[in-house]
Amino acid sequence: MAPSETAVDEIRQVVGADHVIADPAVLHEYESATFATTQRIPLVVLPGSVEEIQRVLELANRHQLPFYPTSRGRNWGLGSRVPVQDGSCVLDLKRMNRILDFSEEQAHITVEPGVTFQQVADYLAEKKSNLYLSAIGGPPDSSVLANALERGDGAGPLGDRARYCCGLEAVLPTGERVSTGLSALDGSLCGKLALFGLGPAVEGLFFQSNLAIVTRLTVLLARRPPHFQCAGFTVRSEAELIQASAAIRELQQLGVLTDTAYSLINIYRLLSLQARYPWDGEGNPLPSPEQLLEQLPAVLAGVRWAGFIGLYGASPGHARAQRRLLKAALKGKVTKLIVVDSVTAAIASKLRAPLSLLTDVDVEDILHKIYYGSVFLGHPTKLEGFSTYWRKRGPLPETCNPDRDGCGLHWICVALPFDGAHIARTTRIVEEVALAHRLEPMCMYFNMSQWYLKSFIVILFDRDVPEEARAARSCHDEALARLIEAGYSPVRLGIQSMTAIVPDQSHVELLRRLKRLLDPNDILAPGRYDFRHRWGATLR
Ligand SMILES: Cc1cc2nc3c(=O)[nH]c(=O)nc-3n(C[C@H](O)[C@H](O)[C@H](O)COP(=O)(O)OP(=O)(O)OC[C@H]3O[C@@H](n4cnc5c(N)ncnc54)[C@H](O)[C@@H]3O)c2cc1C
Repeated sequence: MAPSETAVDEIRQVVGADHVIADPAVLHEYESATFATTQRIPLVVLPGSVEEIQRVLELANRHQLPFYPTSRGRNWGLGSRVPVQDGSCVLDLKRMNRILDFSEEQAHITVEPGVTFQQVADYLAEKKSNLYLSAIGGPPDSSVLANALERGDGAGPLGDRARYCCGLEAVLPTGERVSTGLSALDGSLCGKLALFGLGPAVEGLFFQSNLAIVTRLTVLLARRPPHFQCAGFTVRSEAELIQASAAIRELQQLGVLTDTAYSLINIYRLLSLQARYPWDGEGNPLPSPEQLLEQLPAVLAGVRWAGFIGLYGASPGHARAQRRLLKAALKGKVTKLIVVDSVTAAIASKLRAPLSLLTDVDVEDILHKIYYGSVFLGHPTKLEGFSTYWRKRGPLPETCNPDRDGCGLHWICVALPFDGAHIARTTRIVEEVALAHRLEPMCMYFNMSQWYLKSFIVILFDRDVPEEARAARSCHDEALARLIEAGYSPVRLGIQSMTAIVPDQSHVELLRRLKRLLDPNDILAPGRYDFRHRWGATLR
């Protein structure tokens, strides 16, 4: 239902007329994601302060207007800025983009919703800080806070972001302001240092939920290692994969490797990060996705997965020991292994011309990706964002914006035990489903801990080709269903998959009761992670 003139006027008085958007052309931009959506957005409101958010929510309750918050709206592959429920207004928090606090000694930074990864990286560089924020593979201009709330993942130390956030401040749907953790206790010196406070951990209610709008949080920062090394290896068979995975897990159990410092990418995903889809001269696709593998550069011939590991050394001796342990552990278990440190990087850089000729790859480019500008060291990257143009024809634009440019993308994120057999099994499921839909099966894996991995399945297509878009959606739905059936539970949902899950009924009932208690008028992001498709009885 469209908001009444009175409601819109009252909202304008709170945030200023310039910060209320009803222009259909702009609303249409907000309604665009990386896959087809039908949700209509009647209004976009951009508050500039916590007080304005509170007052907008009071009006939302009075006028029964649902609002969907976004911090930067770069939730590409999972819905971008599009609300789960049709008819929701968008509360865009990007104007609230201040870094509120930073401590070099205590290694933390406090941000508002609109603060981006690039902004934090630039801020720390300007301060000549010895610290960094673990970066995501996704857009550098996405929100640190929203990424944390989605339990997003960065590369390198402290990458499991939700585990390293403290002192949240949030506004409940009814407009009250609350703080969490030790920052809820007057005068606590550890409000920005400890995730948990005293008593029940209420902050957990604000991650992947629709129970509050988070307006600030503190993120812990990692210390820049004096001796960084990056290892890259390739694997050709499932047997190799299983052995190599066991060896890497053991290194992590022994403390040689840290959480979220290991990523594994299957060959199709690797190709999409290196190049564009090889259309023929007339713009036609290859007869089948498998034919891509026949065009691999010599160095990748027969390769099925490539792994990357960040090693964080405190001294030359420490780094040497890490390298030796890694090489010994992977000996005979992978096809090729290289470890790059500052010395080998400098030599390779000098010899880049002959090396590039010999290996058929751009050595300088690889060095930048895996070493000098490594995401493992907190450098935000545009590389992955541009991979969303994989199946688009024509040159790449200056700025990456898949929503604007008709790039097609669905993400699926699931958890699996840290075990090569499970990696092989999930890859096989994705391969079967994607190849049957004539799409490239793309999988990535990330070590969240020594116990489990997250897999990110990427379905890339051209949104402007209707049959491809239909195939991609069907591929997404089938792959997700088969993964769930096989026990690989989703750890993050897009707006296209909020109803794909059937949680335990007692869990659903608890969430329903919490929602009714905290959001009696159902005005905050209805349908987002609340499993209302299983509620049975209606909210009211
Ligand atoms: C190529 C590519 C690579 C990617 N790599 C990664 C990766 O490595 N790691 C990763 O985690 N993700 C990755 N992503 C997914 C996604 O782009 C990022 O997670 C991105 O950070 C999300 O965008 P955002 O931060 O602008 O969040 P937003 O779009 O602003 O918000 C995300 C969600 O959080 C909710 N939300 C936002 N702000 C608030 C708030 N203040 N209070 C309550 N709820 C709120 C919104 O309702 C929305 O559903 C990748 C995407 C692409 C396309």
